[in-house]
Amino acid sequence: MNILISNDDGYRSPGLHALARALSPLGRVTVVAPDRDRSGASNSLTLDVPIRAERLENGIIRVNGTPTDCVHLAITGLLDEEPDLVVAGINHGPNLGDDVIYSGTVAAATEGRFLGLPAIAVSIASHQPQHLRTAGAMAARLVAGLRDVQLSASTILNVNVPDVPLEALRGIAATRLGHRHKAEAVSRIEDPRGRPMYWIGPAGPEQDAGEGTDFHALRTGWVSVTPIQIDLTRHGALPALGQWLGALP
Ligand code: MN
Repeated sequence: MNILISNDDGYRSPGLHALARALSPLGRVTVVAPDRDRSGASNSLTLDVPIRAERLENGIIRVNGTPTDCVHLAITGLLDEEPDLVVAGINHGPNLGDDVIYSGTVAAATEGRFLGLPAIAVSIASHQPQHLRTAGAMAARLVAGLRDVQLSASTILNVNVPDVPLEALRGIAATRLGHRHKAEAVSRIEDPRGRPMYWIGPAGPEQDAGEGTDFHALRTGWVSVTPIQIDLTRHGALPALGQWLGALP
């Protein structure tokens, strides 16, 4: 099995290296990752400047682009052999509920799915993780399991792992995405010349985070696995919209 690994925290991230270590017994692992932290990059492609890919001494291919660039490049021409699977992560910090809209980790997996491959995004609950091996082990279990089960062609698995020792996990739960309250306000500070500068504030607190959600699973010590899809059409709204449009003067 050829496994393509990418992330959004950049090529030096301990989570990326932990994932590569954990998956290497399962197949041939290729790592293509951004040259810096691109968290929050979502599904952006770089179209205004050329993209360069450089193979480092440790074998990692470093790209001056987004997570989506990395996976796009890897699958559409950079690699000699097309991968069988894309795994993104291990992101430092969870990707829960509405986070997936902004996440570069989820975007890397999404790009793999767009280009026809099974894809998994893996995040660990802490921004300063102590137990990356736990998340690595869970990623390996899921990847090994995928050899027996075919994921639906439109499904991406969004995995969040508590930052605890492996034996402290309560299990693996299938969950739905919860929701957050709206984001905190932007921070405004002044530069030395008195001009305003802004820093995007943190995501909002949990809102819809009850039983069955990814928030709840993670909070109660479970590994959360959410099947997500890209179809953004709100199918239920089509009939009413059609009627409204038909009646427009
Ligand atoms: Mn990140």
